[in-house]
Amino acid sequence: MNADDCIFCKIIAGQIPCVKIYEDDAILSFLDIGPISDGHTLVVPKQHYEQLHDCPAELLGRVCSRLGKIAEAVKKAVNSEGYNLLCNNGGAAGQLVEHVHFHIIPRNADDGVFNRWPSYKYEEGRIETIAETIRKNL
Ligand code: AMP
Ligand code: ZN
Repeated sequence: MNADDCIFCKIIAGQIPCVKIYEDDAILSFLDIGPISDGHTLVVPKQHYEQLHDCPAELLGRVCSRLGKIAEAVKKAVNSEGYNLLCNNGGAAGQLVEHVHFHIIPRNADDGVFNRWPSYKYEEGRIETIAETIRKNL
């Protein structure tokens, strides 16, 4: 998806309205219009990059440097017990808008928003093999 077809780029350009939380020269934060809990907030870089690993480190640093402050404000505003920080990358991971973004999702115990993901144990030796392959790709 290029920037011309991107809904978040249109929001950033002011062509589509949003309910703004925070803005500076590098990032925009606004409320998600399809929340999974009250206060569900998005934080996006103003430049168009599809996925986290496409985003230059410096810009990603700018985005991440604001996440804690915004998350704290969201948590206080809706008086939630906690929150999830989520960044979907790729359709298989649930990414619908192909412009890198972070979700801040307020959470309370037993809210049913999502359950813990299914986890399993590695077979003998597999954890080391996978780690070595990841290290080689760094
Ligand atoms: P993702 O599945 O991580 O790509 O999430 C995209 C999110 O963007 C969804 O939670 C949508 O509800 C949200 N979204 C889509 N369009 C808008 C919009 N115009 N304003 C605010 N949030 C939006
Ligand atoms: Zn975009």
